Amino acid sequence: MGPTTERALGRRLRERPVWQHLAALVVVPLLATGAVSAASVAERTRELRTAGQAGSLMRAATELDALRRAVDSELLPTLSRNVTRDREAAAAAGFGERRAVLYLDAVNRLQLARQVTDRAVSRIGAASPAAVSTALAVQRLRTVRAAADQGTSSTEALADLYVGLSDWLSHAEEQVITGTTATGLSERSARAVNDVTLVVELTQQASREVPAAFTARVLGGGEQVRARQRAAHVVGSYRELAGATAELSSAPVRLGWAAATRGAAAQELTAAFGGETREPGRLSGPQLLELADASARRDRDLAQLLESTVDTAVAAVDAEREEAAVRLRTTLLLCLLVLAGALAAAVAQGRWLAGALRRLADAAQRVGQGELVDVPEGGPRETRTAARALAGAVAGLRQVREQADALTRGDLAGALREQPLPGPLGEAVQASVQQLVRAVQQRDRLQTELAHQAAHDPLTGLPNRAAALRLLSGALERAGRRGATTGLLFVDLDGFKAVNDGAGHAAGDEVLREVARRLRGCVREGDSVGRLGGDEFVVLVEDVTDEAALVELGERVVAAARRPVHVAGDAATGAAGRSVRVGASVGVAVARGAGEDAEVLLAEADSAVYRAKSRGRGRVEVFDDVLRAELAARWDLQSALREGLRRGELTLHYQPVVDLADGSLAGYEALARWDRPGVGPVRPDVFVAAAEASSLVCDLGRWVLREATAQLARWREERPCAWPAPGAGAEPTVAVNVSGRHLSDPRLLEDVAQALQASGLPPHLLVLEITETVLVDDPLATAHLQQLRASGVGVAIDDFGTGWTSIGQLPTTPADTLKIDRSFVSSTDPGRRGLVALTVHAAHTFGLRVVAEGVEDAEQLRWLREQGCDTAQGYLFARPMPAPEAARWQRPAEALAV
Ligand code: C2E
Ligand code: CA
Ligand code: CA
Repeated sequence: MGPTTERALGRRLRERPVWQHLAALVVVPLLATGAVSAASVAERTRELRTAGQAGSLMRAATELDALRRAVDSELLPTLSRNVTRDREAAAAAGFGERRAVLYLDAVNRLQLARQVTDRAVSRIGAASPAAVSTALAVQRLRTVRAAADQGTSSTEALADLYVGLSDWLSHAEEQVITGTTATGLSERSARAVNDVTLVVELTQQASREVPAAFTARVLGGGEQVRARQRAAHVVGSYRELAGATAELSSAPVRLGWAAATRGAAAQELTAAFGGETREPGRLSGPQLLELADASARRDRDLAQLLESTVDTAVAAVDAEREEAAVRLRTTLLLCLLVLAGALAAAVAQGRWLAGALRRLADAAQRVGQGELVDVPEGGPRETRTAARALAGAVAGLRQVREQADALTRGDLAGALREQPLPGPLGEAVQASVQQLVRAVQQRDRLQTELAHQAAHDPLTGLPNRAAALRLLSGALERAGRRGATTGLLFVDLDGFKAVNDGAGHAAGDEVLREVARRLRGCVREGDSVGRLGGDEFVVLVEDVTDEAALVELGERVVAAARRPVHVAGDAATGAAGRSVRVGASVGVAVARGAGEDAEVLLAEADSAVYRAKSRGRGRVEVFDDVLRAELAARWDLQSALREGLRRGELTLHYQPVVDLADGSLAGYEALARWDRPGVGPVRPDVFVAAAEASSLVCDLGRWVLREATAQLARWREERPCAWPAPGAGAEPTVAVNVSGRHLSDPRLLEDVAQALQASGLPPHLLVLEITETVLVDDPLATAHLQQLRASGVGVAIDDFGTGWTSIGQLPTTPADTLKIDRSFVSSTDPGRRGLVALTVHAAHTFGLRVVAEGVEDAEQLRWLREQGCDTAQGYLFARPMPAPEAARWQRPAEALAV
């Protein structure tokens, strides 16, 4: 296993759920406890088996003892039969004449004894622990019996055989009993077994007393000495044992012992052998045979004693066995109880701890996913501490959420009211919330301000054009629902430009503010005043009952505007405070009922004020059917022109411009022509004026620029006949009329650049004609011209002399050409003619070229030439012509020649 797999395994083990760890913690000691219990149970079981074995061994000892006694009881009749069979031996043993009787008696006794022995053998089962010893004993017994029955063996030999077998059985008995004690009995049982041993020894010695004495009596020679010693030993041993009651542990055994050793049979024997110990061989053979009965009785007594002693011992062992069984059961029960208890306790603990941890983990996981759940508190101290900490964090997050909710609702104060969270995070959150709230408040303030600024004119504080239109729309909607009438007054100041130019812009502003104040003073509560821009104001009157009242209001406005305005001095320019005067023209339009549009109503009032101005200013005009027709015609013209432009109904005519020095072609002026389908040609000043009312004029200008530059570029290729030879003089230019509105349009420079780029015309061959008024009106127009001049495009001031530009302003005018208006050229008035001479002179002084417009006759040409005019255009040379005609145009030499 590599280190990575080991680490992975370790991680897998560590990442197991807590109940598995706990189970491991519990199972190991439980297993140990189980093992100890099992050992204990094994020990108890062994005890039990031992007790059982001890019982059966003692039973076997009893059986062997019965066999031994039986074998012992065969000895006396065997020896007796052997002795009485031989006359001499019988006589030597003292049997004499009773030999034959005794012989028969011995034969009978022997038969009975052998039957007893055989029964004893048959009682020992094959399963008995004494079975093997018994089988061996039986074999030996057969040999012994055979030897005895053959009658060839000497008495000593037979006695030896029997005594040997008896000793051997005794030995086997002792071994069995020793086996009992070797099983590891308790002390009480061991003492009981010891009693059995003593009783067995007693029975052994007892049953051998008479045969031993008999043997000693019947044997002769050296054998007799040994037999006597043995008999003495047996008798002594018996006596000694009989008196050794103190060694017995059990009181009943002691009683039985005493009874057996002092019973009638025992006393008879004791009395008989009392002298024998001192005088061996005192008792004769027949006397000893007579004692055999007593010996047999005593043997029976002792056998009973042995029986009862064994019973006692077995009872003790059984009791021990029973106790062992009880102990085993108790031990088993205890072990099971301990195991079950431990297991139950472990499971309960584990569930408790694992449950607390799982609930905490669940809560933590859900909090991690953004659910702000309640955190359950339970389990041991550590999980409680963790739960409390998590609950604290959740409470903090809830608070943050409440702050966020408050912010979302726009409840800024609510967002700030929340107690800050503890610690650096809380400070950071609180700081960011405060910052956010401040930013939002600032933004709201700014928005309010901006909304006000967007809707109001900063100079007068009146609603601006957009706001005024919104007010008007609202009023019209309300009026439409109620069927009410709404009035709109368009107020245009007269002579304001003069104040601006003469007294300065600050004075102009002052006048506007004052007029605004006066307008507000004129209107009723509920009427609105707005400023459209420049010197144009509107008054909105709701719920008009009478059109005459609107006219009256308009007259009040005119009167109010007419009153002098005191303007403060200007320290910067050094201008002193003074009174200035303006006037006002008022156009009135009325909307009745539903369906009126604010823009339309405004245009109606506008056209009314236009008429007021054209009818002499300082007056009130009401929009009427005549104006309505005019307005409708203009809108109609506008839409038709828009369509016409799109459909290519417009064309350009080119009027040549002639160089007065040599009569060569200086250039062309491009002039728009519109043949309106179904109507016929529309005069350019008419459709141009209509286009100027909207951005349509920019579309027109863009088209003319492209068309004119493209045409001149083609002519440069084609070289029409009137063109100067290459290298001879300047190349002809093309002049395009640009309206004031287009000049102020932000797209103008782009339009010019695109036209030049599309045609490939060099910029210096394009001339833009503008009227002088546009320069005064708009700084953006001036800036555009300056950039165009810088790029090489020519700029001509059209209709010079009709406007406000004075000759003194020429040096700063962004133009390179002046076009003297036709009215000056055609005039015969000496003053006007003088002015032309002056203009030409001044223009040349400031480096400007001069074009004379509308030259119709030779006289005019001659005079212009005298004044040093550079170029001229007019019917004298050519009318504006379609491009092909203009290309064929030949300079009329006679016209120049004059
Ligand atoms: P304008 O720019 O002053 O153009 C000169 C006008 O004088 C032209 O009138 C021309 O036909 C006319 N004219 C030329 N020579 C003589 C002459 O010897 N005697 C008389 N009586 N008239 C002569 P038109 O073409 O009718 O244009 C009128 C005005 O329309 C132009 O005045 C110009 O202001 C405007 N206009 C014409 N085409 C355009 C255009 O393409 N764009 C713009 N913005 N305005 C244009
Ligand atoms: Ca022109
Ligand atoms: Ca002109």
